[in-house]
Amino acid sequence: MATLTAADTIDDRPARSGAQAVQTHCPYCALQCGMTLDETEQGWRVSARDFPTNKGGLCRKGWSAASLLSAPDRLTTPLVRDRRGMQLRPASWDEALDRIKHGILAIQRQHGDDAVGVFGGGGLTNEKAYLLGKFARVALGTANIDYNGRFCMASGAAGSQRAFGVDRGLPFPLSDIPLAGAILLQGGNPAETMPPIMQYFEAQREQGGKLIVADPRRTATARMAQLHLQLTPGTDAALANGLLHVAMRDRLVDTEFVAARTTGFAAVQRICKSYWPDRVERITGVPAPLVERAAHMLGEVSSAMVLTARGAEQQSHGTDNVSAFINLVLALGQAGRPHAGYGCLTGQGNGQGGREHGQKADQLPGYRKIDNPRHRAEVASVWGVDPDSLPRPGLSACELLGAMGTGIRGLIVMACNVLASAPDAEQVSTGLGRLDLLVVADMFLSETAQRADVVLPITQWAEEDGTMTNLEGRVLHRRRAMDPPEGVWTDLQVMQALAGRLGCSARFDTGSRQVFAELRRASAGGAADYAGISYDRIDAEDGVFWPCPDESHPGTPRLFLDRFATEDGRARFHPVEYRGAAETPDRDFPYVLTTGRLLSHYQTGAQTRRVAELAEAEPGAFVELHVDTARGLGIGRGDMVRLTTRRGSIDVPARVTRDIRMDTVFVPFHWAGRVSANLLTNAALDPVSRIPEFKACAVHVQRSPLRASADVPRHGGPKQDVA
Ligand code: SF4
Repeated sequence: MATLTAADTIDDRPARSGAQAVQTHCPYCALQCGMTLDETEQGWRVSARDFPTNKGGLCRKGWSAASLLSAPDRLTTPLVRDRRGMQLRPASWDEALDRIKHGILAIQRQHGDDAVGVFGGGGLTNEKAYLLGKFARVALGTANIDYNGRFCMASGAAGSQRAFGVDRGLPFPLSDIPLAGAILLQGGNPAETMPPIMQYFEAQREQGGKLIVADPRRTATARMAQLHLQLTPGTDAALANGLLHVAMRDRLVDTEFVAARTTGFAAVQRICKSYWPDRVERITGVPAPLVERAAHMLGEVSSAMVLTARGAEQQSHGTDNVSAFINLVLALGQAGRPHAGYGCLTGQGNGQGGREHGQKADQLPGYRKIDNPRHRAEVASVWGVDPDSLPRPGLSACELLGAMGTGIRGLIVMACNVLASAPDAEQVSTGLGRLDLLVVADMFLSETAQRADVVLPITQWAEEDGTMTNLEGRVLHRRRAMDPPEGVWTDLQVMQALAGRLGCSARFDTGSRQVFAELRRASAGGAADYAGISYDRIDAEDGVFWPCPDESHPGTPRLFLDRFATEDGRARFHPVEYRGAAETPDRDFPYVLTTGRLLSHYQTGAQTRRVAELAEAEPGAFVELHVDTARGLGIGRGDMVRLTTRRGSIDVPARVTRDIRMDTVFVPFHWAGRVSANLLTNAALDPVSRIPEFKACAVHVQRSPLRASADVPRHGGPKQDVA
């Protein structure tokens, strides 16, 4: 097979030249703020642009994103490891790809096709996510592909699917937020994670709307709210049932809507009868009068929204939590109408698009289901393969990682840092060491890449064209601004080259427009129908909302106005009992650990820890604990604290505050190695969404014998081991 070079088919459009500015989008979160990139004498510069989502705003992550483009430790050559224990060394693309080919074939010959797994990322463009799903099923013939979106929005997606028949993070545009009379934000802190979105909440407040925030911490977002419900982590379903109990008791239920557009309310009513406010206070720690006040704030306005985020979703009962809040929304008659409804605030840059086009173990493009014979046949006809040749549903993300060394002998990781992002990191580390072949495609030598047998250097955001689907379901065009460094390939090139080497005759294009054209055909007729969306339309219309089944269709900013996407068009109530976290405090582990993100970093920090301004603002992990808790344990501000759970232990400095519950401690998860929050977290899975329980586990807290700077690395992680 001919060897590809960086110049070959990277895209179907040449990179721009000269000083022309390029209108594109931020490389990080799902708000996908519009920004302009232009080249100055000092290097690439970001400026904000007036796009409908961010309206000229950017957060500090976006403002500083251009420095990633000149990061000194950028990977520009493949790396291979000759034997375990040896260092990675530079190699040619031919050698690296041949090594992968021989590794895959040897594993599949001995252990079967499913023994090679694929792990994708929520930051991949739609084109890459789509092609990765095809690569896994057609070129590798493996059932085992999943992605790190399983760690993020999976419960919101599963709850929406079972109530509404389809999942789109927000089934309405952001511009509906200011017109909502009341909003409950359950377990989210967008003032830090996606600050420009707060414009919409500020506009809502200016128009007299009310904001309720439920969070164990008094976050920057909670401080903006009229009402803060400071619940114990893991008790969300009890709070939702309590709110519905008050709504039923005080005749706030919209009986006409319930009768006309829903099914299954009677079973929910029976359950919620016993969630009287005093009981809810005992479970959640939220005072009963505040539960009553919140229910009335939501029930007495003409339009109300409930938005959930990771706080409610990353639990072993995350899907039930989401269902309980959807029950509340349905009972109040606040779904399927403008300026109201339930939404899940997607976090990862393309968490939405990444889960629509076949990167999940149970899905095919267009949100089709891999176990549905008709869906299999539709996608197989686009791919030119026999439907029976397509694998069945595979292992979800945590299960896939848990099978490393047993059912999974080889793993291909694309733009994801599983060693930092997955729960129970010690087990993940052990599993990585048991693999016969670990391949990581990334821009930087992440903590996971440092463990690989083969590392492939790939393009980053501004070096490639592609589409992203933001948290509203708006499909956007992320434009290419520059050529990649010599020696760097796109993921699309990597998949084409590997598929060819593996003897796969199916088509694997390397131009993003060609891949998008195929994605449109593969999604046509599916729930997430992109058939009518083109790059030209996206450019002309500031993005297009799916579903958009043909080119004359205007796109669908608001779903469910006439009917829900279920067979009979009615939304489904789903009865939920509160069951609590998989691990609750006891004598040995008396506190609750919860984890989350900070303003200055994105996800595992693989990118943002490399931006000097961001690393300076937040240089390392810490634990936040209540001043009274700290005093009781003899811990002062800045003291080192040892946190121990049933899975591991970390030592991090203390931040003492009054803004967190006394029974709860918080650790950000942006760092890997010895200070990784995920050395502590629990891999207990939600039975429906298969999301792990990042948000609540039992922890022991004590003053550490270590001193801050001398004994503990500020950033954690092993040293790079490149020859
Ligand atoms: Fe916008 Fe998110 Fe980027 Fe911040 S990180 S600039 S909120 S897209």
